[in-house]
Amino acid sequence: MGADSNVHTCGCEPCRKGDHPEREDHCQLNLILSRLDEQQRRWLTGREAAQRGHGDIRIVSLITGLHPETIRRPVTTDKTQTKESNGRNAKQRH
Ligand SMILES: [Zn+2]
Repeated sequence: MGADSNVHTCGCEPCRKGDHPEREDHCQLNLILSRLDEQQRRWLTGREAAQRGHGDIRIVSLITGLHPETIRRPVTTDKTQTKESNGRNAKQRH
């Protein structure tokens, strides 16, 4: 064990402070990322950021050590963008 020196250590605040519920999740994410090529990394981190909601590109960037710009350009579909704008409209009253 301990041979995975290429795996990025999570840099998010809770992980740096110590144990927290998502620590294992962050470790696994970095482990997976270390096995992927660059396009696949963008894909996965973009998905992670989207799942966590707006503004969490910064957090995913901290977790993975990737540049926010890299995460900001995931492989998106038109469907996803439509879904997002629909969600915004739904919050507004007509
Ligand atoms: Zn973390």
